[in-house]
Amino acid sequence: MVMILPGSVIGILGGGQLGRMLAAAAGQLGYKCHIYSPDENSPAFDLAAYHTVADYNDIEALTAFAAKIDVATYEFENIPAAAAQLLAEHKVLRPSWHALEVSQDRVVEKDFLNEHGIATAAYQAFETKDELKAALAITGRPAIAKTRRFGYDGKGQATVKSKANFANALKVMGGVPSILEAFVGFDREISAIVARSENGDVAAFPISENSHVNHVLDETNVPAAISPTVMATAQVIATKIANALDYVGVLAVEMFVTDITGEVVVNEIAPRVHNSGHWTIEGAHTSQFEQHIRAICGLPLGDPSARGAVRMKNLLGKDILNIEEYLADPGAHFHHYGKCHPVDGRKMGHVTWIDPKTD
Ligand code: AMP
Repeated sequence: MVMILPGSVIGILGGGQLGRMLAAAAGQLGYKCHIYSPDENSPAFDLAAYHTVADYNDIEALTAFAAKIDVATYEFENIPAAAAQLLAEHKVLRPSWHALEVSQDRVVEKDFLNEHGIATAAYQAFETKDELKAALAITGRPAIAKTRRFGYDGKGQATVKSKANFANALKVMGGVPSILEAFVGFDREISAIVARSENGDVAAFPISENSHVNHVLDETNVPAAISPTVMATAQVIATKIANALDYVGVLAVEMFVTDITGEVVVNEIAPRVHNSGHWTIEGAHTSQFEQHIRAICGLPLGDPSARGAVRMKNLLGKDILNIEEYLADPGAHFHHYGKCHPVDGRKMGHVTWIDPKTD
C-alpha cells in the first residue's frame, strides 16, 4: 500500500461543510487541502491552505488543480462524470469514479445492490405517464417517485397514493428519468458508516439512528435502539458494499429497519463522509473525517468505537442563532459551518452531546 505522507496536498472536490470538516481533520494529521468548488463563498475555503473557484466542467481549471495535488477525493456525489474521470486520469481518486457512478443514479444503485443480494424497496424506472402506471403495478401504493439523479434531502420526490398524487408526481419529476419505489413501512432509519483502506481493512462505526424533519436529517443518536443482530446485519451489508466497490475511504449507507420483520432494507449509498456521522468528531475514538483522510492516504485506520451514548442535532437556518445557549451548556460541542446567512432549512451547524456513563 502506497502511503501519501503528511505534508502532501489532498484535493477535495466540493466546498461545503463536509469539505470543511475533512480539511480540519487533514490539518490535524499534517496534510494541506486544496478545495475545488464553483462557489466563491464555500465554507470549506476558510480551513484549507488552497482553493480554486471554477466550474466542475472547466477542463483547464481541473487539469491545473490535478497538477497541484497528491491525491483527490470528493465530499459531494453530484459531480459531473467527466470531471471525476479527468481527475482520475491525472491523480489517484479515492473513492473511485466507479463508486460515484453507482451512487449518482438511484436505478443503477438499486440494480447494483440487488445484484449483490442486498434488499431494497421494490422499484421501477419511469419517465412517461404510461410508464408510471406500469411502475405502480410493480410497487403497489403508496409509492415514492424520485428523480434518478441529483436528488438530496427529499428534493425531487413525490408520494403516490391517489389519482391526484399521480398527476402531481409526473409534474414534480418534470419528464426527467425517474424511479418509483415502494413505500417501506419502517420502524427506524439507521446509518451504517464504514471506512475501507486499499488493502481491504474495514473499520465499521457503531450504527446510528436518524430522525428527519421535512426530509432533512434532524437528529442522530448512537447507539441505535435496535437489536445486536440488526446492528451486525447493517454493518455486514455496508462492508459488503464497500468490498464490492473495492472502495477506499468512508462510505455511508442509509437503511430502513422494517416494522414488521425487522429486516434491513437499503435506501441509499453515499460515497463520502455523511451528516449522520458528525457525532463521531467527539463521540468516537476516531472521527469519520480523520478516518477518511487515513484511508485515502494509506495510513492505518483508527478505532471507530463510540466514547459513550451520543446525540447529534443539526442546526438548520435560524437555529444557529441560539449559539449562546449551546456555548453555555458545558456538555454541548458546538459546530458552526461559517455560512454567513441563515437561510431557512440550510444546514448551518450542529451540536453533539456525549453521555460517557453508558459506554
Ligand atoms: P432519500 O432522499 O432517498 O434519502 O429520502 C429522504 C427520506 O424520505 C428518507 O430518509 C425517508 O424518511 C423517506 N423515504 C425515502 N424513500 C422511502 C421509501 N421507499 N419508503 C419510505 N420512506 C422513504
